[in-house]
Amino acid sequence: MSKEEIIIDAWSSNKIENYDHVFKKFGLEKFTDYDLSDHYLFKRKIIIAQRDFNKIRKAIENKSKFLQLTGIASSGDLHFGHKIDVDLFLLFNRLGATSKFCICDIDAYVSREDSKIKNMVIAKEIAVKNVADIIALGIDPNDIYVQSQKEKEYYQFSYEISKKITQNMFEAIYGHVNLGKMSSVFLQISDILHMQLPFMYGKAPEITGIGLDQDPHARITRDVSKRVNYDIEVPSFFYFLHQSGLKEGEKMSSSDPDTAIFLNDTAEIAKKKINKAFTGGCVTIEEQKEKGGNPDICKIYEMFKFHHPDNDFLEKTYNDCRSGKILCGECKKNCSDFVCKFLEDHNKKREKSIEIAKKIVYG
Ligand code: SF4
Repeated sequence: MSKEEIIIDAWSSNKIENYDHVFKKFGLEKFTDYDLSDHYLFKRKIIIAQRDFNKIRKAIENKSKFLQLTGIASSGDLHFGHKIDVDLFLLFNRLGATSKFCICDIDAYVSREDSKIKNMVIAKEIAVKNVADIIALGIDPNDIYVQSQKEKEYYQFSYEISKKITQNMFEAIYGHVNLGKMSSVFLQISDILHMQLPFMYGKAPEITGIGLDQDPHARITRDVSKRVNYDIEVPSFFYFLHQSGLKEGEKMSSSDPDTAIFLNDTAEIAKKKINKAFTGGCVTIEEQKEKGGNPDICKIYEMFKFHHPDNDFLEKTYNDCRSGKILCGECKKNCSDFVCKFLEDHNKKREKSIEIAKKIVYG
């Protein structure tokens, strides 16, 4: 029996291979509400699963109040994989959600080894860079908070939550009891559920988007929401595909810089990474012209699929690859041009966002 068959490790960067198994084991429903938006991330079915999404669908259709909370731990520089979290957050924001995006600085410190994040000073320095990045990606600064700057009601609520989780519960869901990780879970639950408390927005359907590997957090949050001493809705979740790493078969991860293009990479570094990326091309040009490539396993195509907004371009790239009309050299050049242009614009916007990011992180 593989590790994945026993438990999902929410802190691991291992890639989940068997989605059907995870759906069945943990009771996830397939996501089918792609008609809610024409956004390319819906068209490309990047969201694959959900829990209780019908409540959110109804709220969107009725234009009634619903909430959204998403977060990223400030454990390193953000890369294109994180951009999906932000793009989906912005998408649900446009669909009518009252939203907050949390940069989890305390969580990042308490749940990571000291060798990775030595102290809160480091966690906050990373948080400044992360906040500047997500502002540059389009999130309104008013919709962003860091945990270390939250109000006393939020911390009171975190302590209340700690009383609702037993050691056995934690061990059953996560497979271990690590006190740092436990306290990070209390904060993550607070992040989601506090949105519905009277001092925030009050009781309402609420959605959080996560990768499938984060499902343990979703299960414990939904469980705790039924037992806290407040009248709140059990939160809904949607689950999206992770963009995989640039190397063969790997997940994009901050801990291995060569698997990812970071949002602060220079054009030169990004180009090098794209040129070294794993593709579905053939060994020789002649063979590829004759047989075509395989975009379904190609990291260049995947970069387009997750980030290039033009559906016609994506379809043409797929068909031209399959028919051998386009070769990997030209395709990588298209990818470099697209990514470098994005990074150039993004870097300018991030520079402008640094001061406001400092204010959000340090107050
Ligand atoms: Fe990938 Fe493009 Fe090569 Fe096809 S032509 S395998 S999409 S790099």
